[in-house]
Order: sequence, then C-alpha cells, then structure tokens
Amino acid sequence: MIVAVDGPTASGKGTIAKALAEHYGLPFLDTGLLYRAVGFQLRQNGGNPDAPDDALEACEFSDEILENPALRDEAIGGLASRVSVHPEVRAALNKRQVDFAHQPGGALLDGRDIGTVIAPDADVKLFITASADVRAERRFREMKSRQVDVEFEAILADIQARDARDSGRSTAPLKPAVDAIEIDTSNMSVQTAIKSAIHAVDSKIAARRV
Ligand code: C5P
Repeated sequence: MIVAVDGPTASGKGTIAKALAEHYGLPFLDTGLLYRAVGFQLRQNGGNPDAPDDALEACEFSDEILENPALRDEAIGGLASRVSVHPEVRAALNKRQVDFAHQPGGALLDGRDIGTVIAPDADVKLFITASADVRAERRFREMKSRQVDVEFEAILADIQARDARDSGRSTAPLKPAVDAIEIDTSNMSVQTAIKSAIHAVDSKIAARRV
C-alpha cells in the first residue's frame, strides 16, 4: 500500500505521517528533508537559492547530510522552500522519491506533491491542514521549548511566506489531489489527529475492497 501525506508546514503532517508509518509497518520518507538537504548544501556552497544553476548544483549532497539536526532549522526550511521552486531541483529529486514510493510492499511519504506528482497512484492520499495562526502558534511553542529566542509575528510571517511560495509555484504546487482526504487539525490534539488519520486510511482501504 502506498500512502501519500501532503500539507503545509506545521500542519501536523510529519507527526501524523510517522505515526501512520509505524501503525501500518510501512517504510517512511520525509521528502521535506531532501529539499532541506539541498538548502543546506547550497549554503555550504555559498550559492544563491534563487539561481537555478546554484540550486541544481546543491542537489549533489551527501546522504550524511540527511542525518544532520541542523536541517530542522527555520533558516534551512526557508532555503528549502526557495530552492524547491526550481523545476530542475524537483526533477533531480524526483527519481529517489518515486522509487521509494514504489518499492515492493509499499511505503508512506510525506511532502507537498506526493499525491499529485510523486505517487498519483497512491492507495490513500491525505491532505493535512490547519490555520496559519494555529500552525504559527505550534511552531512558536516548539521553538520556545528549545529555548530559541523568537517572536510570534516573525514566525507567522515566515509561515505565510512559505505557504505563498509553496502554493504559488508553477511546478508541483502545494495543493490537495482531487482524491485526497482532507484533515484539518486546527482544533485537534495530536492523539485525535492521529486517530482521525488512521480512521481515514482504514475507511479508504475498506471502501476499495467493496
Ligand atoms: O516539510 P518541510 O517543512 O520539511 O519542507 C521544507 C520545504 O521543502 C517546504 O516549504 C517546501 O517548499 C519544500 N518541499 C517541497 N516538496 C516536498 C517536500 C518539501 O517543495 N515534497
């Protein structure tokens, strides 16, 4: 079974995706990490994230980078969002994701374009959302808990800028696949969101068997 989990930043999709992968025993790929690795490598190279050639050159990163906790930094997320606009970058990362999705036994991937581009044939597609305010609040609390000195307004502005870039790009924009099941986690606890995602997957699989 292939499960695609898409949605904007801080919607809860990463947490839900990990929990689903564990629940169904599926190999899991956080595709955002690949774009973050490109952003990280680009910074190492001293490149310009808005220049397609520099961004493409940064796609040649070593897999060790994927383990680097610095990939989670907000600054790297911002760079990832900028390099991911370039069709050349998306093409360079495409095969790795398509192969992962179509491995024997299935897989679960989370990202922005899994249900629309990487695995349009996925058995189940979830689109996880939450309001920008709620997502900024979650990110704010999480960063505060790590003693990062941040302003709520700055986080909200960053989230809105990323949403606009991810949804507005011409190649593989962030949008729900026509057959995606949308889950709005704005008013849900983590546990409720996970339960509701498991319920959605089970219902979809049951409906396909009929
Ligand atoms: O999900 P995460 O916040 O780690 O992703 C970082 C950035 O990478 C996103 O803002 C988005 O621009 C880009 N991305 C993408 N396609 C994916 C996954 C991530 O364009 N499948």
